[in-house]
Amino acid sequence: MEKTLVLLKPSCVDRGLIGEVVNRLEKKGLIICGMKMIQLDEKILREHYAHLVDRPFFPVLAAGMMATPVVAMCLKGLDAVEVVRKLTGSTNGRKADPGTIRGDLSMSGSQNIIHASDSPENAEIEIKRFFRPEEIFDYMPAYLKFLYSEDEL
Ligand code: UDP
Ligand code: MG
Repeated sequence: MEKTLVLLKPSCVDRGLIGEVVNRLEKKGLIICGMKMIQLDEKILREHYAHLVDRPFFPVLAAGMMATPVVAMCLKGLDAVEVVRKLTGSTNGRKADPGTIRGDLSMSGSQNIIHASDSPENAEIEIKRFFRPEEIFDYMPAYLKFLYSEDEL
């Protein structure tokens, strides 16, 4: 089953929205296979946001991402990367569709609650960036046969 990486950003942690976001991901049927709180630093952020390091807003983004600890999650499901990106919504919370996590919970293009991997290739890299192998638990929930039909599994 496909895995993806989520970070609940300081804008989520500080505003007391961890439960709200985890609840949405759980209710959708994504299987939580890793979850922990960590403090990010400049080194890991330069790696994680390598595509943005040269942009003028990077210092503000990095400071925002270090303002509190974040919650890192590894989620599992069929097409998990695409499903979580859809739930997340577009980057700017003011423009994101209502019903999405960013569209419902954020007013910012930077302090936008959640990071979600954008491709299966990046998800693999990002899971390794934030989790040691023994921190990922490959269990299947008892309700699996009610989450998917037999021919989907
Ligand atoms: N970001 C920002 N200003 C911008 C674009 C992005 O502060 O103009 C931040 C924002 O927090 C975003 C993150 O950088 O979530 C990563 O940007 P990306 O383009 O990868 O967007 P995402 O994949 O998070 O939607
Ligand atoms: Mg991105």
